[in-house]
Amino acid sequence: KMIKQLLISIVCGAAMLTVGILIGHYGITNAPSWVKDVVRDVDESLIEKFLSEVDNIQIQENLKELTKVPHMATTAGDEQTVQLMLKRWQDPESGLDQAWREEYLVYLSFPDPKNPNKVTVVSPSETVLHTAREKEKSYTPDQDDPAVVQPYAAYSPAGHQRGRLVYANQGKPSDYLLLNQTVDLKGTIAITRYGGAGRAAKAINAAPYGVIGVLVYTDPLDINDGLMSDANETYPHSWYMPPSGVERGSFNTHYGDMLTPYLAAKEETYRIPVEDITGIPPIPIQPIGFEDAYILICELGGEAAPKEWQGAFNCTYNFGGPGFKPTSAFNNRLLYKFHFNVVNFYPHLQFRSAIQINNIKILNDVKLDIFNHEKIKNSSNVMGVIKGSVEPDRYVIYGNHRDSWVHGAIDPSSGTSVMLELTRVLGKMVKQGKWRPRRSIIFGSWGAEEFGLIGSAEYTEQYFTKLSERTIAYINVDIAVFANATLRASGMPSVQNVIFKAAKQVNAAGLESTSVYDNWIKYSNRTSPAHGTIPRMGYLSGAGSDYAAFVHYLGITAMDISYTYDRSKTNARIYPAYHTAYDTFDYASKFIDPGFVSHQAIARTAGNVLIRLADSLVLPLNCSDYAEILEDYLKTAVNLYQNQLQVKHISMGKHPLKRAVASFRSAATHLDQVILSSDLANETPLKVRRINDQLMLLDRAFLNPLAFPDKYAFRHVIWASSSAGKPTFPGLADAYAKAESSGQPRDWDKVHYHLSVLSQAIEGAANTLVDVI
Ligand SMILES: [Zn+2]
Repeated sequence: KMIKQLLISIVCGAAMLTVGILIGHYGITNAPSWVKDVVRDVDESLIEKFLSEVDNIQIQENLKELTKVPHMATTAGDEQTVQLMLKRWQDPESGLDQAWREEYLVYLSFPDPKNPNKVTVVSPSETVLHTAREKEKSYTPDQDDPAVVQPYAAYSPAGHQRGRLVYANQGKPSDYLLLNQTVDLKGTIAITRYGGAGRAAKAINAAPYGVIGVLVYTDPLDINDGLMSDANETYPHSWYMPPSGVERGSFNTHYGDMLTPYLAAKEETYRIPVEDITGIPPIPIQPIGFEDAYILICELGGEAAPKEWQGAFNCTYNFGGPGFKPTSAFNNRLLYKFHFNVVNFYPHLQFRSAIQINNIKILNDVKLDIFNHEKIKNSSNVMGVIKGSVEPDRYVIYGNHRDSWVHGAIDPSSGTSVMLELTRVLGKMVKQGKWRPRRSIIFGSWGAEEFGLIGSAEYTEQYFTKLSERTIAYINVDIAVFANATLRASGMPSVQNVIFKAAKQVNAAGLESTSVYDNWIKYSNRTSPAHGTIPRMGYLSGAGSDYAAFVHYLGITAMDISYTYDRSKTNARIYPAYHTAYDTFDYASKFIDPGFVSHQAIARTAGNVLIRLADSLVLPLNCSDYAEILEDYLKTAVNLYQNQLQVKHISMGKHPLKRAVASFRSAATHLDQVILSSDLANETPLKVRRINDQLMLLDRAFLNPLAFPDKYAFRHVIWASSSAGKPTFPGLADAYAKAESSGQPRDWDKVHYHLSVLSQAIEGAANTLVDVI
């Protein structure tokens, strides 16, 4: 009996054990091993670790290394930076999974070192009365590097032009229109100041008036808060531009390689004939320093230019006679010579000659000798990836260009030194097996940005389909630190939330107990109907850096992040050494960001955003914030245009545009609700992926490839560039401005057309946010 009981208990025990094992076994293995990975969300402790490891001294050392030599696109210095990026990204301890270079053959423009461009004042008998400085004055050994390129206007045609000088303010269409009312512009050379109009536009706007050459300079009013003297006011005493400093730049209107529009510039790619290129200066143009501009402008004759045209020089800016004042030093010197000769050789004519001299206009010309030449050259992007563990086919892209005009300490190497620090910290975590992002991260070190965002544009053309279908977002950090006061962020409204979240977790530069967010809101804020007072984000409506192709061509959600000025302390258009030979490590470390703490704040903020986009279970993109901005744009459009459109029998009252914005709002609210009310970690991963695809593809819905036939590669109907300067839908604003000025019925039709383009794009976007069927 005892044996029987024992047997029973053994059998029972065994049975229970078996059941237990079975339950336990199935309890665990019923869910396959990938389940844990698939529901993994962003790890806050990992973000803390990341933030603590971002090192300002590493960033400083990166910058020192990157700025050893000038690294203009496709030069030997550029190749050195390619090698540096590859070495870092292929490092076995702190590199990425993979890194490689991608080459494009791109159309660039250079001055001729053997025949430097010349700007002179010449007399009728070819006597040179003044020569503008050919290279910037040297204050540190950096400026003496033979690889410092002479200041020039890339894509200005070569040519030899001489003519009377006139002053054309900023070279806007309205400036030439006004100038032409007092001066006959035929055959003149116009001097313009930077700002107001694009670089190329200053020459393109001039040519129809018969202007044959253009000079451009930076007025101390626009860059130096009026200061001019290098004895104690400008660099090397401060961050201000020395008198001989010259902003170089690309003088083109469209972005990407000009010979291969909409195609990647590979060796075999079809290239358009050079004469078919549009958007570049039709006449020679050359930038000069304000020390030379001062000499030219203060000698100009003619009537005084309007108040808004006056700059910081201690003279009246005249339109130009055309040409110099009769009393000008340039004219006087010659008059004196003339007078001297007349008196010496014909003493009996002394009285008459004096009268003659008063009537004779000895007109001295400004002469441009431009030797620029174009060349197809091999430019590299350096690419690096960290492969995603769960969704490797979803990409978060982070990029910055690598090429500079000279040493480029701020533009772009501040961004590159930040990017290298990000990849060092993230790469180390990957190599040590401590982390692998949910989604893939792609790093792009773009080439030839300074010549027109070429490397990034070619990349988007080459991988158009793959990037369109799989890219979550693009983060651009070009100039990481313009100045050390506050964060500046621009982007699609859907990224506001993740930038705010990241900015709240990072200490503001140099402030231990204030976050980047709290510091930012003090400098720039707005009132949001949904969130109250929040920092003000900017929009990416132009093509100022490598985000352009992502935003405007591909319709990818993007952002641009930097540290910037205290506007109560300076009115500088941009940091004063921008595109000059003074943008060096010395300048950056002394005057822009001593201690590199602003660089560190940017690396932490941008890196935090990057990790959140790569690791969050549900993408941290908010479509309701998008709705808020669409409503804001709609309100402005109604205020500005409704009454006048009524007169033209285009009603905005119950217009489809209003309905579209309203449906976008309700679709966004609904999707937010779905996200909030779901326990997505415990639902099918297909649902998460479905929602994420809706969020990822939202901006794609705003693309209309045919809406802007005159704007190369602008297809995003909400963020396309606009010349109307109104904070509302760009196509509508431009069409309205044109119709208003021409009064043509066809132009009013175009307004109607853009209302329809917009309504249908927004309605279409709303349709992607509602439940699938
Ligand atoms: Zn840049």
